[in-house]
Formats: sequence, structure tokens, C-alpha cells
Amino acid sequence: MSKKLKNVKAVTEMIAGTHKSQTKTNVSFGETKSFVKREVGDQWTDDEGTLWEQKKGYKVKLGKLSKLREDLTKFPNCKKGCNSYLKPTRNDIYMRGIHGMCFDCVIEMEHQMRIDGTYEEYERKKIYANMKSWLKQAEIEKQAVKTALKAKFVNEDGSIEEWNDMSWEDVEEKIDNEFRLFKENYLKKWEVKK
Ligand SMILES: [Zn+2]
Repeated sequence: MSKKLKNVKAVTEMIAGTHKSQTKTNVSFGETKSFVKREVGDQWTDDEGTLWEQKKGYKVKLGKLSKLREDLTKFPNCKKGCNSYLKPTRNDIYMRGIHGMCFDCVIEMEHQMRIDGTYEEYERKKIYANMKSWLKQAEIEKQAVKTALKAKFVNEDGSIEEWNDMSWEDVEEKIDNEFRLFKENYLKKWEVKK
């Protein structure tokens, strides 16, 4: 894992309270604090639960873990008086990621939209947004495929070989064109107002 990814993982665990430094049970008595050498980009929590990050020559306070945890568990778009935040279910947590509100509040919002006649437009937008993010991933994968394919065309001396009368440029163009057509057709379905 790259250092960046490791940090992301560590912080995610620290916020969730599952990091190994927080679940350690066998703390020995008389443990002396040793000097920890930090590298730029390292993140850690101190005894008070404050999260820090090492910068070049200094460290910055990122905030209290409890506060960060609290911010992450908020449902800012729930209707007034909703108390799902007290004991969120898996569905609530899933919906919070998308709408910033709990499952029940989403159901209620969608119900209201159906009454107002704005639901279809909302649903179309939602699907469209999902699709776009999926296509973005597909674009990255297309790029990876192209890179892998191109490697097969390159000779040891660096010159580029032709395959079945097709040059690398032809192949590349074909891949790009097909992907573009696929993408356009795919998005078009959801772009037109019904
Ligand atoms: Zn709610």
C-alpha cells in the first residue's frame, strides 16, 4: 500500500475508533514515553484524542477525534425533530452518504416529490449522476487497457510494430471511438427529458 493510502486507512480507522492504537488492551505499567520520529505526512493522535499531522519541520493540529467523529455522524438534511442520528441503521448510513439524511427522511422526501410531480426529474438526475461517476471509472480502465495494449506493440528497440495491417494509432483510435460512442449512447438515454 502506498503511504498516502495507508494514512487514509489509518485515519478512517482512528475516526471509527478501530485503529490498533485505540484497541490495544495490554498497556504495561511504567511505560516510558519514547521519542517518535515522524515523517512528513504522518498522522497520529495524542493522549487527549487530538489528531495531528506532521508537516515539514512542524506539526499541525487537525482537531479532536471526537469532534471529527461527530461531524461524520451528522444528518444535516434530516427534517426537524428526526432522531435517526441517535441510532442509525445501515440504510441510514448509506443514505447519509448520498443525501445527508436518514432513510426515513429520504422516503418522505421522495414521497413529497411524487405528490409535487418532481420525482421523475429527481430520479433521472440521480441515475444520471451515478452513471457519470461509473463512466469516469470506466474511462480510467480504458486508459489502463490502452497502456497495456500499447506495450504489446512496442518492439524491444522502441519502434512500434504493426498488427494485422493495423498500426497502434489505428487501434488506439478504434478503442477511443468505440468508447466515445458507447458513452454518448449511454448518457443520451438519460439526458433527454421524458
Ligand atoms: Zn431523518
